[in-house]
Amino acid sequence: MSETLRIVMLGPPGAGKGTQSVLTAKARKIPHISSGDLFREAVKNETALGKRVKGYLDKGELVPDSLVIELIQERLSKPDCKSGFLLDGFIRTVAQAEALDALLLKSGVELTHVIDVKVEDSVLIERIRLRGASGSGRSDDNAEVAAKRLQVYWTQTAPVTDYYKKKGKIFDVDGLGSIDEVQARIERLLR
Ligand code: AMP
Repeated sequence: MSETLRIVMLGPPGAGKGTQSVLTAKARKIPHISSGDLFREAVKNETALGKRVKGYLDKGELVPDSLVIELIQERLSKPDCKSGFLLDGFIRTVAQAEALDALLLKSGVELTHVIDVKVEDSVLIERIRLRGASGSGRSDDNAEVAAKRLQVYWTQTAPVTDYYKKKGKIFDVDGLGSIDEVQARIERLLR
């Protein structure tokens, strides 16, 4: 039997993390769990959670850790996560990383890969701007919010990389190139 994959995808907004996450999860037949998607769905359906998080999403700010951790806990307890999972955008702060480790420890399992998709800032800003211009439908895809999301990434999420580095779990992937090229790099490191 192949190894159970428990993957966390890291990377700044605009790095292509979402696209690569979908492809990797599909190839490996594990659930793709995107916190951004779950939050946007909650906002769209005007649920209690949606009402609490809308303001943060619109401004490009992080949703408070307690809400994120609650959501991870709930999602990872579903039976489809027994045979592995890929968390996309779920780990944005060191507190979230610690909470996830504690949660997995309780079930006697660990993450197998933390993948950091790397792209330089100037490319990210251009990609996010283009995504906004093409009408992605995301309320957080305008220049101002994009800049804010990058700043939030550098101050609050970049330290997560060091957290996993210390644990020897991190795999850097160059996010420049075509979707297929980047996917091939990820596939190689999962082998
Ligand atoms: P994403 O689609 O992953 O870029 O997420 C969109 C927005 O959802 C972010 O800008 C945050 O407002 C919120 N969000 C998603 N995941 C998290 C998380 N792990 N921690 C805090 N906020 C989050």
